[in-house]
Amino acid sequence: MAKYKLEYIWLDGYQPVPNLRGKTRLADEAPKSVEDCPIWGFDGSSTQQAEGHSSDCMLKPVGLYPDVDRGDNAYIVLCEVMMPDCETPHPSNMRATVENDPDTWFGFEQEYFLFQNKRPLGWPTDGFPSPQGEYYTGVGYANVGNVAREIVEKHLDLCLAAGINHEGINAEVAKGQWEFQIFAKGSRKCADDLWVARYLLLRLCEKYSVDVEWHCKPFLGDWNGSGMHCNFSTKYMRETGGEKYFKHLMEVFERNKDEHIAAYGPDNHLRLTGLHETQSIDKFSWGIADRGASIRVPHSFVNNGYKGYLEDRRPNSQGDPYQIASRILRTISEVPTG
Ligand code: ADP
Ligand code: MN
Ligand code: MN
Ligand code: MN
Repeated sequence: MAKYKLEYIWLDGYQPVPNLRGKTRLADEAPKSVEDCPIWGFDGSSTQQAEGHSSDCMLKPVGLYPDVDRGDNAYIVLCEVMMPDCETPHPSNMRATVENDPDTWFGFEQEYFLFQNKRPLGWPTDGFPSPQGEYYTGVGYANVGNVAREIVEKHLDLCLAAGINHEGINAEVAKGQWEFQIFAKGSRKCADDLWVARYLLLRLCEKYSVDVEWHCKPFLGDWNGSGMHCNFSTKYMRETGGEKYFKHLMEVFERNKDEHIAAYGPDNHLRLTGLHETQSIDKFSWGIADRGASIRVPHSFVNNGYKGYLEDRRPNSQGDPYQIASRILRTISEVPTG
């Protein structure tokens, strides 16, 4: 009888950013939905989530994804970490802090570097490659090396087979730097899909002896850092909005500037310098089509009577999308509607 492989994955308790963890559970029947996946447990004392004398943490399945790299009988089961009562979210469980709203939509643009032997793929062993210029959306061995694109393409296929709604991929400004974009409806869904996409990339890269460097500024100097722009819209922003509401929203974003930065990934002061299409970390600004602003307002937003989505350009590549989404929704909730 065929056995089904369910890879339960979750986020550990490491600070300031969690790591992905996973272990396999065998099942006799294929799960049809996440409801068919039982609650499971793990040793939290090995993941900075519990003390050794009371080590059990619970895994509550919240998402089910086909895992085609592992065959037809395999699934990834994305989990939230719960306390032993199975009802109280563990303190490390940031997903539980994201207000659940099916009508809020997010799009994350994940940038990252592929690394080998602690150097970006395609960089010389010593020194630096040619200055930035031709790498962004580039083609050819000189610009992208010889394995990076294969990895990126395979990752895209794995994500699509998993049902993740990629919107695009591209080579980025620094050599060895890449980006993928994911969009999803539902306040938690895009962050869920992003963590699964990160998991698939990390696991794929094992086969190539390649690491994924998520840090937002692996190289100081004239080398772009990695961001994770967060595009967001609530139903109210899309359907009602208006200039008055927008200006009020921006005031409240400004007031919460430091709280946002705290949720947007570590070491962001190295990246948000005011150079390389960023606003500096101690300033808040918004601007129409302005890639040097904290929040970029798309032309379409203004043309539609201040309705639609906004792009927060401050979150970085290492940020936890749950914490980012959670903070944005909290700030939005402080602005009265109607
Ligand atoms: P950039 O020029 O910064 O790369 P893009 O226009 O390529 O920006 O990407 C914008 C992203 O915004 C899309 O990939 C999508 O994920 C997201 N997006 C589009 N519409 C909405 C919306 N209504 N609500 C939230 N996010 C959206
Ligand atoms: Mn982009
Ligand atoms: Mn980009
Ligand atoms: Mn962007």
